[in-house]
Amino acid sequence: MKNIVLSLPDETATIALGTSLAAACDSATVIYLYGDLGAGKTTFSRGFLQALGHKGNVKSPTYTLVEPYALTPMNVYHFDLYRLADPEELEFMGIRDYFDENAICLVEWPQQGEGFLPNPDLSLHISYQGEGREASIDAHTPHGELILTRLNGQQG
Ligand code: ADP
Ligand code: MG
Repeated sequence: MKNIVLSLPDETATIALGTSLAAACDSATVIYLYGDLGAGKTTFSRGFLQALGHKGNVKSPTYTLVEPYALTPMNVYHFDLYRLADPEELEFMGIRDYFDENAICLVEWPQQGEGFLPNPDLSLHISYQGEGREASIDAHTPHGELILTRLNGQQG
């Protein structure tokens, strides 16, 4: 499965998508998150992280660029590259170590890091749709396609 489009009528639906996608990810995965400010990228990430057992709040790591979460079965790195001035900065922060590891990486504003990020397995685009949102998820690798197939099964 290469693409899924879902309607997200409210915040709860965005969180539920994060929960479902987390359940469908069983190994190292890179997910790019696209959407305007306030679209719901961090809300999605909160659902994802809480599904893997994170208890606290989730804020966009706008100033630190990345927030690590040591979770089971895998570490999750939540990036927000909105304020990244120069994608070369990613080299200095040792970006490769994050992606080499057996980890799940959620990346808000990946377009800011172009050329210095690994290719994604999945990209999620969230757009405004009336009072709610629409999500479109594309698979870019066989691993991403497998995750989407699982997600589609869950949505039943
Ligand atoms: P981003 O990280 O994309 O800038 P946030 O997740 O920080 O966006 O903020 C999204 C805002 O929109 C929050 O106030 C959240 O409650 C709201 N929101 C999230 N998903 C939906 C949805 N499906 N429909 C309506 N509002 C939503
Ligand atoms: Mg955000």
